Amino acid sequence: MKKIVILGSTGSIGCQAINVIKRLRGEIEIAGLTTYSNLALLKKQIRVCRPQIVSVWKEEQALELNEWCKRNKIKLEILHGLEGLVEIAGCAASDMVLSAVVGSIGLKPLLAAIKSKKNIALANKEALVIAGDIIMAEAKKNKVKLIPVDSEHSAVFQCLKQEDAKTVHKIILTASGGPFYRYNSSHSDIKVSQALDHPTWKMGQKITIDSATLMNKGLEAIEAHHLFNIGFDKIEIVIHPQSIVHSMVEFIDTTVLAHLSYPTMELPIQYALTYPERCKLPLRRLDLSVIKRLEFDAPDFDRFPCLKLALNAGKISGTMPAVMNAANEKAVRFFLDGKIKFTDIAKIIKKVMSLHKTIENPSLDDIFAADLWAREVTRAFSG
Ligand code: NDP
Ligand code: MG
Repeated sequence: MKKIVILGSTGSIGCQAINVIKRLRGEIEIAGLTTYSNLALLKKQIRVCRPQIVSVWKEEQALELNEWCKRNKIKLEILHGLEGLVEIAGCAASDMVLSAVVGSIGLKPLLAAIKSKKNIALANKEALVIAGDIIMAEAKKNKVKLIPVDSEHSAVFQCLKQEDAKTVHKIILTASGGPFYRYNSSHSDIKVSQALDHPTWKMGQKITIDSATLMNKGLEAIEAHHLFNIGFDKIEIVIHPQSIVHSMVEFIDTTVLAHLSYPTMELPIQYALTYPERCKLPLRRLDLSVIKRLEFDAPDFDRFPCLKLALNAGKISGTMPAVMNAANEKAVRFFLDGKIKFTDIAKIIKKVMSLHKTIENPSLDDIFAADLWAREVTRAFSG
């Protein structure tokens, strides 16, 4: 039986992963769970999943959880902080880690899991965005395969399964276009509630805003670049509002393979957890005669400048993706808190990137320093 640690179990991906595991009935045992601050949900998950080890962010919460465990006669190892996240990612209780935390905080635990030779199901895209070269080199060294959870990358991964990488002509990443694909008014008046109202996917807040700005697709292009070792000139982005085609691969003979399903993250999550096996999933089956139309369109880089900024950062590489990502994480937080406008997100990222002197072939320390610097500069701009 596989034993899994879920980093970010209280989030959108984490909760769906627990549902998937429950439905697989005994094939996967949950060894560890983590949350940032949602202790109430973590307690419910502890009762249902019976993990051996958990991690929370603050020490006070670890102490509170410890008292709760004593009162309820639950035996549990409780860790906290970034050290806790790193320790649980590499702990002996599991042979598999699902990384579903949000943001660059996922980098250190991901590296710890790779170094401990865990099988990895990867949802946390920001780690790959900021340190893709280091992560992929570490994965190769430790003979660890990263199985993508992101739906587009799961689609590409499945299309590539039987194919020789040399035969790939390009990867076509699809994007729903988010809530503002057909929005004709000025983007500067967009409210938080409008940006959080995604037409096809229900996700955590940060990725939902990234989907509204199309930053998410830029992050995903960088993710694909690293996961599939492919140049940015061979990654095309296509808007596909129905979110039925999750991505495509075009081969040298002009064949295009695509992955289709109704939009649900349970599918790529289950595939990553059961890989290399494909298991039954009792979801409704695709009915193209009901869907009738699948539309595709080119992205509008002028209306969605975050997409261009992310692609530029990816092409510049070095420490620039870390700077772009950190500025975005901060700016999205400020937008959600009502401190800046929707259109300020791109303006701030552009400014912060323009002030950064890229370090090529950066070490991990260079990347963390760039991340920290960009957060401080972003904070100053958002005053
Ligand atoms: P959520 O915000 O819903 O969940 C994030 C999880 O990480 C929660 O458990 C949260 O705890 C925890 N967390 C947040 N910040 C920290 C921190 N600083 N330290 C430790 N733990 C933290 O995010 P999603 O599930 O939507 O996304 C997770 C990742 O998966 C992201 O990288 C996203 O881009 C990617 N992804 C998500 C998809 C989706 O459908 N949601 C689709 C494809 C990719 P708490 O609950 O306490 O906040
Ligand atoms: Mg995606």
